[in-house]
Amino acid sequence: MLSGILISVVFLVASGLALAGLLLLAERRLLNFGPCTIDINDGKKVLQVNGGNNLLAALAENDIFIPSACGGRGTCAYCKLKVLDGGGTAGPIETPYLTQEEIKDQVRLSCQVRLRNDVRIRIPNHLFDIQRFRGRVEHKRSLTHDTVELRIALEKPSQIAFQAGQYIQLESEPYRGREAVMRAYSISSPPSQKHAVETVIRLVPDGICTTWVFDVLKENDPVTFSGPYGDFYLSDTDRPCLFIAGGSGMAPIISMLRDMREKDNCRRVVFFFGALTRSDLFYVDELRQLEKERQWFRFVPALSNEPPDSGWEGERGLITEVIARCLPDTAEYEAYLCGSPGMIDASVKVLTARGIAESRIFYDKFA
Ligand SMILES: Cc1cc2nc3c(=O)[nH]c(=O)nc-3n(C[C@H](O)[C@H](O)[C@H](O)COP(=O)(O)OP(=O)(O)OC[C@H]3O[C@@H](n4cnc5c(N)ncnc54)[C@H](O)[C@@H]3O)c2cc1C
Repeated sequence: MLSGILISVVFLVASGLALAGLLLLAERRLLNFGPCTIDINDGKKVLQVNGGNNLLAALAENDIFIPSACGGRGTCAYCKLKVLDGGGTAGPIETPYLTQEEIKDQVRLSCQVRLRNDVRIRIPNHLFDIQRFRGRVEHKRSLTHDTVELRIALEKPSQIAFQAGQYIQLESEPYRGREAVMRAYSISSPPSQKHAVETVIRLVPDGICTTWVFDVLKENDPVTFSGPYGDFYLSDTDRPCLFIAGGSGMAPIISMLRDMREKDNCRRVVFFFGALTRSDLFYVDELRQLEKERQWFRFVPALSNEPPDSGWEGERGLITEVIARCLPDTAEYEAYLCGSPGMIDASVKVLTARGIAESRIFYDKFA
C-alpha cells in the first residue's frame, strides 16, 4: 500500500517535471530565446546577443545607446530606428507614434521590438559616440522647494564632450520596492566643464527617478548615466534667439547662455522664463548679472500665480500672454523652447501665428 503511494508520488513528480520541461522547451521555441545577431549599418558592427530581450535593451547591454526618455515604456518615441529585417511588424503600442511614411520606411520603436530572430538595423552614425559614464554626486543643492541642482563629477570616462542643450539619461537604483529606471535630464553646465555634468531636477510626485534623487541619493554616492543625447542645440545662424522655458526647462537654456557668455556671443537673446510664483524662480541673480554684463541679453521672468499684493513688480500671466506683450515683433527670431508639453504646444501656436516659421522653432518636451 505504502509503496503504491510512493510509486504514484514519484510518477506524478516525474510527469510534472517532464511537462514543465516540455513547456519550457515550447516557450523557448516559440519565443526563440536562442542567440540572435544584430547587424548594424550593413556590418559596421555585428552583435551576438541572447534573444527574448527588447532591441533597445540588447543594444544598451552592448554599449550602443539609443535615445529613450521614458526608459523603454513606449511612450516617448525617442528610440526610433530602422529595422530592415527580422523585426516583425509594428505593434499597437508603437503605431500611434509612427507616421505612414515611417512605417513604410521600416522605422520602429526599438523598445517595442522583441528579439526573436537575427535582425538588420540602421542607426545614425553619431549614436556610436554615446557612452556610459560612472561618476559621483559632487553636490545636491536645493534651488526651490521642489527643484535641486545635481552635479556629478565624472570618474570613468573622466571627460564628456557635448553641445549646450543636450541631455543625459540618468540610471536610478532600485529602492523601496521600485525598479531601476532611466530618465532624461538636460545638462545645465556649459560644455567647457568637461569633468562634471550639472542638471536641474524637479520632483515629480510619486515619480520613480526624481523620488530616488530627492530621497535616496546623497552627496558622494556613485551614479551612472549615458549620453550625450539630443539635437536641441543652437543652430549656426546669427538670427536673434527667443528662449522660452518653464520650471526645470531652465536647464538646457542656461547651459546655452553660459556657453554664449564664455564664447562672447553676439546674437541677441530674449529669455522668457515662466513660473507659478516667486518661490519657483531660480538662477535669477546669475541671469540678472548676465543682463548687466552683456548688452545682447534680456531676461523676462513671468509669474502666473503670484498673489496680487506680494510686491512682485515683474511680468504676470501665462508665458504666451507675456511674450505678446513684451516682444511685439517676433518674426525675425529663432525660438528655443523647453519644458512641459502643454507650455510648448501653446507657445508654438502663438509663435507661428506671430510669424516665426515652424522650421525656426526648436524644442525639447519634458514629457
Ligand atoms: C529630453 C528630455 C529632457 C528632460 N530634462 C529634464 C530636466 O532637465 N529636468 C527635469 O526635472 N526633468 C527632465 N525631463 C523629465 C524627466 O526625464 C522625467 O520624465 C521626470 O523627471 C519624471 O521622472 P520620474 O521617474 O520621477 O517619474 P515617473 O516614474 O516617470 O512618473 C511620472 C508620472 O507618471 C506617474 N506614473 C508613473 N508610473 C505610472 C504608472 N505605471 N501608471 C500611472 N502613472 C504612473 C507618476 O505618478 C508621475 O506622476 C526631461 C525629459 C525629456 C524627454
